Amino acid sequence: SDIPPVPVRGQDEIAGLTRAFNTMVVNRAQLEQARKAMVSDVAHELRTPLSNIRGWLEAAEDGVSDLDPALVTLLMKEALVLQHVVDDLQDLAIADAGSLRLTVAPVPVRAALEQVRAAHEVRAAQAGVALSVSAEELTVDADALRLRQILDNLVANALRYVPSGGSVSVSAARDHDDVVIAVADTGAGISAEDLPHVFDRFWRADKSRARSTGGSGLGLAIVRKLTEAHGGTAGVTSTPGQGSTFTVRLPIRAGAGAAEPV
Ligand code: ADP
Repeated sequence: SDIPPVPVRGQDEIAGLTRAFNTMVVNRAQLEQARKAMVSDVAHELRTPLSNIRGWLEAAEDGVSDLDPALVTLLMKEALVLQHVVDDLQDLAIADAGSLRLTVAPVPVRAALEQVRAAHEVRAAQAGVALSVSAEELTVDADALRLRQILDNLVANALRYVPSGGSVSVSAARDHDDVVIAVADTGAGISAEDLPHVFDRFWRADKSRARSTGGSGLGLAIVRKLTEAHGGTAGVTSTPGQGSTFTVRLPIRAGAGAAEPV
C-alpha cells in the first residue's frame, strides 16, 4: 500500500505506543461492556410500564375491566413514564455524541429558582414538604431550558425522597468565580457506599422501587451531563438519616461580577 510507515525513533517510543495501544484495547472492552449493560438496563426500564399497559389493555379486551376514565388515566401515566425514559435516553445520547446545542444567554439565577419553586409548589404541598428558595442576585451564562431541566430533576428527586413534614431548600450563592446552586433536603440521605454511584445511569439505591414516581433512573446522569456541558460540575454530600445536598457549580457570567483579580 502507499501508506507511509510510522516513523519509530527508538525503544522508548515503541514502549509508549504499546502502552497506548493496550490502554486503547482495555478502554474499548470497558466501553463494550458498558454498552451491553446499558442496553440491558434500557430494556428493563421499558419493560415494567409496557407490561402494565399491556396487562390493563388485555383485561379491557377480555371484558374483565372497562376502559373507564380511571383506567385511561393509569394507561396515560404509564405512557408518560415510557416517554420520560425515552426523552432522557435521547438527551444522553445527544450529549454523548457531543451534539448538545446549548442556546446560551445570561440567566438571572434567583428568578430561575423562583420559577422552579413555583412549578413544584403544588406537588410539595401535596407531599407535605416545605419548599423554599433563598438566592443571591447572580447571573450565569446558560441555556435557560437546560438549566431548568437540571433544577427540575434535583427538586423532583428531593420531593420524592423527603417524607411528609420535611423540607427542601434551594439556594444560590457565589463561591469565587462560580455560582453554587444547592438543593438540600431533609430526607433519608444516601449511604457513603451508595454516594459515588448516584450519578450513574440507571443506578438506584432501591433496586426494587416501583417506578410509580415517574423517574427514569437517568435524572442525575442528565443533571451531571448538562452541568458539565455548561463548563460546571455537579456533586452531592449526604448524611444518612439527616438528608442530602445536591450542588451544581456553574461559572459566574464573565464580566458580570467576576472576582476582582488579586
Ligand atoms: P430516579 O430518581 O429516577 O431513580 P435519579 O438518577 O434521579 O433516578 O436518581 C438515582 C438514585 O439516587 C435514586 O434512585 C435514589 O436512590 C438516589 N437519590 C437521588 N436523589 C436523592 C435524594 N434527594 N435523597 C436520597 N436519595 C436520592
